[in-house]
Amino acid sequence: MPGTTTIDIDAASYKGSVSVPTGLFIDGKWVDPVEPDTIDVINPSTGKKIAAVSLGSAKDVDIAVKAAQKAYKTTWGLKCPGSQRSRLIIRLADLMERDIDQFAALESLNAGKPFNVARNGDMAGSIKHIRYFGGWADKVQGKTIESSENKLAYTRHEPYGVVGQIIPWNFPMLMLAWKVGPALATGNCIILKPSEVTPLSALKFAELVAEAGFPPGVVNVVNGYGVTVGQAISEHMHISKVAFTGSTLVGRKVLEASARTNLKVVTLELGGKSPTVIFDDCNLEQTIKWATRAMYGNMGQSCVAGTRIFVQEGIYDQFMEKFTAMVKGLTAATGDPFLGTTMHGPQVSQVQFDRIMGYIASGKSDGATVHIGGERHGTEGFFIQPTIFTDVTPDMKIVKEEIFGPVAAVLKFKTEEEVIEAANATEYGLSACVFSENIGRAIRVAHAFESGSTFVNSAQLIECSIPFGGYKASGIGREHGEYALETYTQVKAVHVNIGLTI
Ligand code: NAD
Repeated sequence: MPGTTTIDIDAASYKGSVSVPTGLFIDGKWVDPVEPDTIDVINPSTGKKIAAVSLGSAKDVDIAVKAAQKAYKTTWGLKCPGSQRSRLIIRLADLMERDIDQFAALESLNAGKPFNVARNGDMAGSIKHIRYFGGWADKVQGKTIESSENKLAYTRHEPYGVVGQIIPWNFPMLMLAWKVGPALATGNCIILKPSEVTPLSALKFAELVAEAGFPPGVVNVVNGYGVTVGQAISEHMHISKVAFTGSTLVGRKVLEASARTNLKVVTLELGGKSPTVIFDDCNLEQTIKWATRAMYGNMGQSCVAGTRIFVQEGIYDQFMEKFTAMVKGLTAATGDPFLGTTMHGPQVSQVQFDRIMGYIASGKSDGATVHIGGERHGTEGFFIQPTIFTDVTPDMKIVKEEIFGPVAAVLKFKTEEEVIEAANATEYGLSACVFSENIGRAIRVAHAFESGSTFVNSAQLIECSIPFGGYKASGIGREHGEYALETYTQVKAVHVNIGLTI
């Protein structure tokens, strides 16, 4: 029988214990994997084990899909009125709110997020998102379309049935909420795979799904590796849509798996190498704060991280002085995520730590200057100093590739035309920021960015009602808002003859 692990936390921001089921959540029950196996879950602040949880395989995905198909046909999907789905989803959001501190503690412990950020950022955002989509559940509507006197034509926006959702480790609960909310609102049943690196909060979430009263099989959580469970979801013949957030490399594999099998619809939220463009006429005090947050928020492990910072030459020296001071403040506030004063925690894993240190080494050997940082912080865990590289050129790996760590590249520019070209010279197109008090210029540049979200005099103000997704290699499809409903429904056109004879 699958068990529960109880984690005792005696820290400045959180004192208490959190219980998390460690099995797979399939058909409303906690079960062991068909082939028993576990994975250790690590605390990135110490590198030590927190817990061990079950690891599923393709066989467990298959069982979960059968449960989801049954639920879809009998208790969910078109069988469950939108108002009832809405009630359950909103109840789920309320339960998440009740347990917000426990969730935040798990995110801090397992993903290294400063507790206050995990609570008031990740978790508050996740709850808001689920609640927002609860509000949509009874408002999914088709259209009637006028064609002739003899015909009544209308559309139905029907769920896909069983959908797969593959989640990354950088925002374990937020990315889950972005996917689960619209899928449930539109009547789909879910096979969800958390990242094998950060499964704890998703397992706690599954417990609340049962408590909220969702019918068995509507939400199934199958923890496991990408190459086993993730691939099984991507290839499954009875999963009709997969929503994936993660790297562009794996996103391609999901798309390929769909092409090889049942041509399931695939939506992808992938990587980025986002530009922050700062003109001479910006409000410098505000710009520095936004640019710092955009770059180093979540320890740089953010798909929208503003990692290429373009500064106009007239303001460059002033910017560097103030930006450096700000980043030094962040360095001083690096450490234990449970301390109220901590603003910068560890990277999520040894793998990520090594990857980022590799990029820092490549920047150095390519001739860039480490302006600040560039080393590990402390002696235990996976901490890296917030780092700024200057003297960079567009061909360097640290400028071209997504590092997914606290490593900024600062570049100087002269003209608007030049910076638009440089900002867009990337395979990615997720997010871009422009800072200027000249509103005409700011809007002109925001429109010129080849990117799914653009921010004027701000950064990363992502909201549940505003569409989010990538241009170019940053993704396919949109999450959030009414746009997300479109990606979880398929349109059926119904033609009714009301008078035509042949
Ligand atoms: P990843 O691609 O390594 O893993 C993402 C998920 O895919 C994990 O659950 C993993 O187990 C699974 N996976 C791995 N191999 C798979 C396979 N062959 N088939 C199916 N699933 C597989 O990414 P990550 O390291 O967890 O997350 C970091 C990446 O996510 C970054 O590139 C980042 O930019 C991106 N990201 C994008 C957004 C967005 O909204 N665009 C948001 C967050 C993160």
